[in-house]
Amino acid sequence: MKQFNISRILIEEGAEHDPLAKKILRRLPNIPIETVGPDELAPSGDIKGMDKESLRLMRFNGEFLKPCPGTRGYICCGYQILNVGTNCPMDCSYCFLQSYINQPSLRIFSNLEDNLTVIGEIIDSSPDRIFRIGTGEFTDSLSLDYITGWTDFLLPFFSRKKNSILELKTKTSSIERIIKSRHRKRIVIAWSLNTPRIIAHQEHKTASLKSRILAAQKCQKAGFVLSFHFDPLIHYPGWGKEYQETLELLERYIDPESVIWISLGSFRYLPDLKWIINRRFPGTSIFNGEFVPGLDGKFRYFKPIRVEMYSKLSQRLKKWHDDLGVYLCMESDDIWRQSLGWSPESSADLCSYLDSRVRNLVPD
Ligand code: SF4
Repeated sequence: MKQFNISRILIEEGAEHDPLAKKILRRLPNIPIETVGPDELAPSGDIKGMDKESLRLMRFNGEFLKPCPGTRGYICCGYQILNVGTNCPMDCSYCFLQSYINQPSLRIFSNLEDNLTVIGEIIDSSPDRIFRIGTGEFTDSLSLDYITGWTDFLLPFFSRKKNSILELKTKTSSIERIIKSRHRKRIVIAWSLNTPRIIAHQEHKTASLKSRILAAQKCQKAGFVLSFHFDPLIHYPGWGKEYQETLELLERYIDPESVIWISLGSFRYLPDLKWIINRRFPGTSIFNGEFVPGLDGKFRYFKPIRVEMYSKLSQRLKKWHDDLGVYLCMESDDIWRQSLGWSPESSADLCSYLDSRVRNLVPD
C-alpha cells in the first residue's frame, strides 16, 4: 500500500474528542501536532498552496450527504456526494479542487461517523429511491484509507442499506483494507483510468495504469462490483492509439460482466483553474488543443473533438461487451446522440438508466 508523506497534523479545537480523530492520531504516532482554531489558517510550508503534507482534522458543519451540483445545461447522473474530507495527497495537474477549495491541507471530517445515523435516516426515508453515493468527488476514496480507516465503517454501513450503493473511486491500488473486509454488497469499487502517458505527465503520485487494473482485478475476484471512469479524456497527438491500448489492457484483466458502468468525460476547466494550473505546473501541455466555452462557463474541447473521442472509445468498449453501462459525464443531448447513437435526453432519464443498472447488477 502506498503511503504518503504527512509532515504535520493540524487539529481543530473540538475535533480531538471525535472517535475518528482519536483513531487517526493512533495510526500516526510521532508526527507533530498543532492545535488550530476553526477556519484558522496554519502557516503553510507549501508555497503553491495545496499543502498536501498537512493533515487537518476538523468537524464539518455542513450536510454530509449532498447531490452532486452537476452543471447547468448538461445531462447529469444524479449522484450523491458523501462528504468525508477534501483534497488528496496525489497531484493531478487538471484537478478541479485546485480552484474549488479555498483552504489548503488534507481535510478530514472527524464527525463523519457520528453523522451516519442522519445519513441513514435520509436514505431510509425514501425507500423507493436508489441513492448512488460516492466519496470520490472532493478527495480520492482510497488514498488516505490507511490513515482514516473510512472503509472500516462505510462498507458495513452501506452494505446494509438496500436502496443505496457506495462507489469508492480511486487512482491508487490501495485495496488492502477493502479486500480484508467481509462486506461486498452494494459496494462498487471504481477506478479513474487514463493512458500511461497522461498518468506519467499529468497524474502525479498516482498508481500506474497496470497496477490500477491489477487492483481492480483482485477486487473483482474478491466479489466486488466494479466501475471505471475515463475522465478526463485528454486530446493529444497519438491519443487514439494510446486510449485503444489502455482499453486492451482493461479487457485483458477484467471480466466485463460485473462492470456496472463506465463513464467518459473530456477535460474541462473554469478560467480560474487555468491560471492555477499554469502556476503550479509551468510548461504543462494540458491546454494544448482547441477549447471553447460551454453553457456552464467551463472550457471544453471543440465539439467535433469530443464527439470523435467519445465515439472511438465507446465503439471499442462495445466490441468488448455490449452491456457496459457507458455514459457521458456532463454532456448535452446532441453530443450523446452523435457519439453514442442514443441519448437519455434528460438528467432524470440518465438517473433511471443508472438506477436500473444498480437493480440488475448489484447483488441484494
Ligand atoms: S486523485 Fe482526484 S482528488 Fe486527487 S489530485 Fe487527482 S483529481 Fe484531484
